Amino acid sequence: MNTKTIRIIIVFAVVSLVGMIATQIFWVKNAYNLEEKQFNDRVHLALTNVTRELLKINKDESVLMNPVKQVSSNYFTTIINDTVHPYLLETLLKKHFTNRNLNIDFEYVIYDCFTDSVVFGNYISIEETDKDELQAVSYNMEWDKDGHYFGVYFPTKQTYIMNKMGIWIFSSSIILIIIMFFSYTINIILKQKRLSEIKNDFINNITHEFKTPISTISLSAEVLLNPDIINQPERLKNYAKIIQDENNRLKNQVDKVLQLATIERDKLKLENEAIDIHQLITESVKSFELLVNQKEGIITTNLNATNFIFYGDKVHISNALYNLIDNAIKYSPEKPEISISTSPYKDGIEISVRDNGIGISDEAHKQIFEKFYREPTGNVHNIKGFGLGLNYVKTIVEAYNGTVRLVSKKGEGSTFIIKLPLKM
Ligand code: ADP
Repeated sequence: MNTKTIRIIIVFAVVSLVGMIATQIFWVKNAYNLEEKQFNDRVHLALTNVTRELLKINKDESVLMNPVKQVSSNYFTTIINDTVHPYLLETLLKKHFTNRNLNIDFEYVIYDCFTDSVVFGNYISIEETDKDELQAVSYNMEWDKDGHYFGVYFPTKQTYIMNKMGIWIFSSSIILIIIMFFSYTINIILKQKRLSEIKNDFINNITHEFKTPISTISLSAEVLLNPDIINQPERLKNYAKIIQDENNRLKNQVDKVLQLATIERDKLKLENEAIDIHQLITESVKSFELLVNQKEGIITTNLNATNFIFYGDKVHISNALYNLIDNAIKYSPEKPEISISTSPYKDGIEISVRDNGIGISDEAHKQIFEKFYREPTGNVHNIKGFGLGLNYVKTIVEAYNGTVRLVSKKGEGSTFIIKLPLKM
């Protein structure tokens, strides 16, 4: 699948998902409003009937116009201007709410119209009722007084309506699952695509890297096969040297690819021998000195760790160190200034390799240790490599419970800091 197709698929899918979400929100909102309206209407009717029945019981002939008022979303008041007995009111409220299928907790309050103060209030749960207690309380009070109004409050109205919307909650959850599933799939497609690009790059890179020394060796061999070359010993020596150099280059490249094969998890078998880290650094520095001198650079060491005997695999540890120094030289286009230092930390040793090279951008920091990753900008493409070195370093260091971290800014050099615990 090419990038354009993937982009089109993502755009279409995102647009249709956004459309689906918007439609769902619209319908859920509509359904909620409808449920709420039905609830309010039913409460209105129930309270009107309660008022009528109360007046009838009180033998009051007056006709009240719109006695029920909705004060807020879940609070209703009813003006009755007559005696309201709590026990009677509560019984009627329960009866009419049940008739209207309103199985919800509520709180009622009886007010005195003249003083506008609360005379009585009670919370009614649909699960339990304290009938006897209420009867006792209300019988002991003087209720024979006109001018009452009462309010009914539904503290759980929102939850009650939401519970009635089960099917909508179910369909919204399904949509949520679809979105999660979709995002996961897109993520996998993008990851796979990146991986296949990286692999293609790697194959192109490796072919190119192997082809150049092979053709140089082949050309040099042709020259050496010429019988006249015997009479030109200087030329012969030059061509033999070219073959040797190119052969070393090939060997280095094959080693790099083999490093990858050896660190594939199951195959990583680590020895446990005593390694003098300081000696290892000194030896590695020596082997790079010639190369650094050729580039008119300098490589220095600053070995301050007090405990520097590490139990591990000498080959892998020195390969890791070699990769870091090799990178420091490779990515310093002019006069490399490389400094390798050690210092003690907790129960371990800290090794840092610093250079004054091209540095690494903030965006690349996270990916730099990934297999095949190469920073895709600037002159980096002119520098040969497979993007395997740092991944190898990380795998080895982590195999010994150590950490490797990078401090770098584009254009300001890089420092790789390894921390290795000395007690395994
Ligand atoms: P390679 O050097 O073969 O490409 P590495 O895994 O060693 O692979 O490095 C991955 C990438 O990290 C390199 O392509 C380069 O972009 C960046 N990098 C590594 N070391 C340095 C360094 N010392 N300075 C600048 N960039 C570096």
